[in-house]
Amino acid sequence: SGVGDFLPSSERRLTVLSGPSGVGKSTVVAELRRAHPEVWLSVSVTTRRPRPGEVDGVHYFFVDGEEFDRLVERGELLEWAEFAGNRYGTPRRPVLDKLAAGVPTLLEIDLEGARQVRRSMPEALLIFLAPPSWAELEKRLRGRGTEPEDVIARRLDAGRIEMAAEKEFDLSLVNTDVKLVCHRLIALMTDPQGVTATT
Ligand code: 5GP
Repeated sequence: SGVGDFLPSSERRLTVLSGPSGVGKSTVVAELRRAHPEVWLSVSVTTRRPRPGEVDGVHYFFVDGEEFDRLVERGELLEWAEFAGNRYGTPRRPVLDKLAAGVPTLLEIDLEGARQVRRSMPEALLIFLAPPSWAELEKRLRGRGTEPEDVIARRLDAGRIEMAAEKEFDLSLVNTDVKLVCHRLIALMTDPQGVTATT
C-alpha cells in the first residue's frame, strides 16, 4: 500500500500519528519526547484549558477562541479540528521550516486533522495507532464505569466509527507496548527501509 512509492522527499518526512480516542497517542508522544529528542514534535494550538502539569509552548500553545479564529482566518494552520468541544490546530510555519531543514517531523492529531493533511500534503506518511483489540479499546472508553449508560454508548459508537478510519491510513501500529511502538515509529520516520520492514 504505497510502500513501493517511497520517496525521501521533504514532504514524505512529515509523519502523522493518529488513531481513535483512548488508544494511547499521548503516552507514545511522551515516550518519544523522552527517548527521541531528534524527532521534532509539532506543538498544537488549542482552546482547551491546560491540565495540571501541561506547559504552554511545550504541550500546547493555549489560546482563546478569538486568537484561534485569527489563526484560521490568516491561514496559519496546516489543519484544525474540533474535538470534544475544543478546537485544536497545527501551526503551519514551524512544520514547513522543520521539513525544509530535513528534520524528522511528527504531528499527533485526531482523525479529522489527519484527513486534512492527507488532502493538503498527499506525500505525508499517515500512521494509525490501533488498540491491541476492540475489547481493549472498549474497556478504555468505558472508563471506570462511573458514567451514565447513554454516555458510554455514545463513546462506543464514536469508537467504532473511529476504528473504521484505519483503512484510510498508510499503515497501522498496534499499541501493545509503548517502547516498541516508538521504536517502530522512529524506524519509519528515519529509514525508508523501515517502511518495508514493519509492514
Ligand atoms: P487532548 O485534549 O487530550 O490533549 O487531545 C484531544 C485530541 O486532540 C487528541 O485526539 C489529539 O490527538 C488531538 N489533537 C491534538 N492536537 C491537535 C491538532 O493540532 N490538530 C488536530 N486535528 N487534533 C489535535
